[in-house]
Amino acid sequence: MSRPAIIAEDLVVAYGDTIALDRSTFTIPAESVTAVIGPNGSGKSTVLNVIAGLVEPLAGSIEVPARSNGRHRIAYVMQTTKINDALPVTVREVVAMGRYAGLGPYRRLGADDREAVRAAMERTGISDLASRHLTELSGGQRQRVFVAQGLAQQHDVLLLDEPLTGIDITTAVAIDEVIHEEVARGSTVVMTTHDLSEARAADHVLLLSGRVVASGRPDEALTAEHLKAAYGPALLHVEDDRIFIDDAAHEPADTRHVHRDRIIHTESSPGDAHQD
Ligand code: ADP
Ligand code: MG
Repeated sequence: MSRPAIIAEDLVVAYGDTIALDRSTFTIPAESVTAVIGPNGSGKSTVLNVIAGLVEPLAGSIEVPARSNGRHRIAYVMQTTKINDALPVTVREVVAMGRYAGLGPYRRLGADDREAVRAAMERTGISDLASRHLTELSGGQRQRVFVAQGLAQQHDVLLLDEPLTGIDITTAVAIDEVIHEEVARGSTVVMTTHDLSEARAADHVLLLSGRVVASGRPDEALTAEHLKAAYGPALLHVEDDRIFIDDAAHEPADTRHVHRDRIIHTESSPGDAHQD
C-alpha cells in the first residue's frame, strides 16, 4: 500500500453510552479512493466523523496528518438527505461557504476564493444553476452543489457521506468522475456507500459491522466470508460467482437509490435508472 493518509489503532468511538465503532485498527492509503461499506448503523458515518475530528476517540488513536498541517485541509460533504434543503441560499452561496473556513474573521472572499468557487461549480456542471435556490433543485443537483462546496475547499482529504446514494445515474457518473480527478490531483478520497459495486470499484475498502471487519483491496476485503461476517448470511445472495447484498430491508420503500448491481438486471429498460 502507498503512504497512509489515515492511521487508526485500536480505535473506539462512542456517542454517550453508545459504542458506534468498536476496537478497530486500519490504515487508509493516500491519493486513492477508499470506500467504507457496511449495513445501516454499522459505523460508516462515524468513521468520517472521527477522521474529520468532529468526534474524539473514546480509546485508541487516529492519526490524520492533513488535520495537523496548519491549514484547513479536510473537506467533509455530509449526506445531502440530512441537510436542510429549505435554506434560503443560492447555489453560489452554498459553494462559497466552502471558502469561509479558510478566511479570517470579517474577511471577504478574494479573487482566489471566487476563482475556486467558479471552478468547483464548472467541474460539477452547476454553473448555470448559480443563482437558483436549493429548494428549486432536484436531489441530484443538490448533491452536485455539496460536492462543489467540498471541491472549493481545495482539500488534501475529501470525505463524502453516501455521495452516490439516491441520485440519478447521470449525476452519479459525474460525481464519480470528479472523485477520480481529485485523486489524480493528489487528494485522498474516503466515501461511504452501501452499494457493493461502488465498493468493488474503489482502490481500498473498509468493511464495517460496528467495527472494521476487513480492510484492504476490494478483492481482499469483500470476500464472501467477510461479507457474511458483516451482513449475516441471510442478506447475501450468490449468483454465477457474483455476490449481491439484499440490503433493501434497510431502505425506505419509495427510495430513489440507484443500485448499480441491479442496473445489470434492468438494462432492457434503462429509463428506470433515471428517477431524478
Ligand atoms: P451508518 O452511517 O453506518 O449508518 P452511523 O455511524 O451513523 O452508522 O452510526 C453507528 C451507530 O452509532 C448506530 O448505532 C447509531 O445509532 C449510533 N449513532 C450515530 N450517531 C449517533 C449520535 N449522534 N448519538 C447517539 N448514537 C449515534
Ligand atoms: Mg451513515
